[in-house]
Amino acid sequence: MNSTSSLLASPLIVALDCATSAQALELAKQLNPQQCRVKVGKELFIAAGPSVVEQLQALGFEVFLDLKLFDIPNTVAGAVASAADLGVWMLTLHAMGGRSMLHAAVMSVQEKSHAPLLIGVTVLTSMNATQLAETGVESGLQDHVMRLANLCQGVGLNGCVASAQEAPLFRSSFGRAFTLVTPGIRFAKAAEPNSKDDQQRVCTPKEAIVNGSTYLVMGRPITQASDPQKAVEKVLADLALSSF
Ligand code: C5P
Repeated sequence: MNSTSSLLASPLIVALDCATSAQALELAKQLNPQQCRVKVGKELFIAAGPSVVEQLQALGFEVFLDLKLFDIPNTVAGAVASAADLGVWMLTLHAMGGRSMLHAAVMSVQEKSHAPLLIGVTVLTSMNATQLAETGVESGLQDHVMRLANLCQGVGLNGCVASAQEAPLFRSSFGRAFTLVTPGIRFAKAAEPNSKDDQQRVCTPKEAIVNGSTYLVMGRPITQASDPQKAVEKVLADLALSSF
């Protein structure tokens, strides 16, 4: 099935930020694949390889492979094709790889029976304006983010990663069809003083959706909950999607 025709209505993606496939699978088995998707990042993928993706799919999950690809166009095209063959649902690429790299990625999924959603990463949220200037980008952080997002849309990517607080700007600039994937989601801001972890700009699930997010990425508020599935249900209830 082409990923863009997925029937799962839940916007929730649980980040399986685990060091081993055993940990990731133990966590995933506690979750309902009818209520969320899962994200596999570099730590888990480098440790466990494609087989962890296949095992998560065998449990019924659609997998977001968050590898933030950044290389020459031919290499990225090959990596994207491999991810498509692996059946991943969503994949990230660094927009700083430029037009040719992004275009090669879009072209490489066009002939595939299963095409992952291709999502651009603009400026890493760990970077501030000073660090960005140190890399030679003088135009300012927000300008650079919007320029890169515009490039992503122009080349034909399906969407971008954005903070939920930036989502209204992305939504008004790029329209309803552009997929916005937003991390930094927390159940509450003021009520849970330690609930932000290392995330600086957080939103609740509901705020993120109201701001225009398409998909919410949540890691620790779910994976470190005493009952992760209950935490998933709390998100869906907050969004009035509890019937899923
Ligand atoms: O545990 P937490 O909810 O903070 O996890 C968020 C997930 O989203 C992590 O996998 C993190 O790497 C990812 N992410 C992020 N900020 C970005 C891009 C990805 O937090 N800008």
